[in-house]
Amino acid sequence: MKKISRKKFLVKSSVALGASTLLLNGCKDEGQKNISAPNIITNKKYRWRMVTTWPPNFPVLGEVCNRFAETLKIMSNGRLELKVFGGGELVPPLESFEAVISGAAEMYNAASYYWAGKAPASQFFASIPFGMNAQQMHAWILNGGGYELWRELYGALDLVPFICGNTGVQMGGWFNKEINNSKDLRGLKMRIPGLGGKVLERAGGAAVLVSGGELYTSLERGVIDATEWIGPYHDYLLGLHKIAKYYYSPGWHEPGSILENVVNKKAFEKLPKDLQKMIEMASHAMGMWSFHEFEAKNNEYLQKIRKESTAELRLFPQEVLDVLKEKTKEVLDEITSKDSMSAKVYQSFQDFSNKVGNWSKYSEKAYYNRISSHQ
Ligand code: CA
Repeated sequence: MKKISRKKFLVKSSVALGASTLLLNGCKDEGQKNISAPNIITNKKYRWRMVTTWPPNFPVLGEVCNRFAETLKIMSNGRLELKVFGGGELVPPLESFEAVISGAAEMYNAASYYWAGKAPASQFFASIPFGMNAQQMHAWILNGGGYELWRELYGALDLVPFICGNTGVQMGGWFNKEINNSKDLRGLKMRIPGLGGKVLERAGGAAVLVSGGELYTSLERGVIDATEWIGPYHDYLLGLHKIAKYYYSPGWHEPGSILENVVNKKAFEKLPKDLQKMIEMASHAMGMWSFHEFEAKNNEYLQKIRKESTAELRLFPQEVLDVLKEKTKEVLDEITSKDSMSAKVYQSFQDFSNKVGNWSKYSEKAYYNRISSHQ
């Protein structure tokens, strides 16, 4: 990645992250049973447009779109070429969903919780507070029935979804107020989108809407008391370490946010099978790249933050996390009681989460707690 200044990063952020803000691998055919494709493979060339919710060439999130387009071009020997449009270049970032439904663009890349107002169950395919981590989310979607439900939900809208990225466990955010117990959440003005924001409000806080470009000045001037973003790499580029007193962990609200590549179903069905498969495989492969790009860079930037910033690195007290977890249950109960598809998806999520959690106790958790010298 080319070096990017904070100012440049802020300008880019302001384009894409208007309302809410942010926020892999297999080869199964089962999920595509309902997708048709012409049987004869020809040399016909396809020229597609991809819209995104990210600024052009945005680190990791925009980069992955460019890499996806390049990969597809090489894999298809130029038969499928994708022109990537950053947020606002073809349509406003948060209109990507409608643009692909209408066919104004053939594909988009985003995080599915942006569409919670249009299809409430969509947000469960991004991340759920206190839910599964990246590895477990991928296992649920690829091998635990998640993809089938995701395709059922999006298929009804004439869309075909693919995993194309993950942020991994995010950070809890930058605070200018100490959080010593759950009472400190009362009245806390924090920029935190999606389900996490709803949970904070239940705990007495105020989830404030601030665009990416206004984040720095809002925190600096005290318009907000706290903000979450992603993790050390992106947070550093945004400069938040220069103006916050505390950097809290962990990101209880986004333990493994999935990023999605979504295709217009009619356009997808016009492609020969080999190109369809290339889209699926390139999405998964580039998704792996973005997940690991975050993983590879986060520690490097965490060390820079520790060195260059006076912000104190802290863990949320257990009692605070317990209260937020309780409020998460209330928020999820409310959503699933109002929307049957949300109930169906959440049931599958929860069943898989229980199963995989039993295994993690003896695998990841035991390894981290008792063996690894790296944690
Ligand atoms: Ca976030």
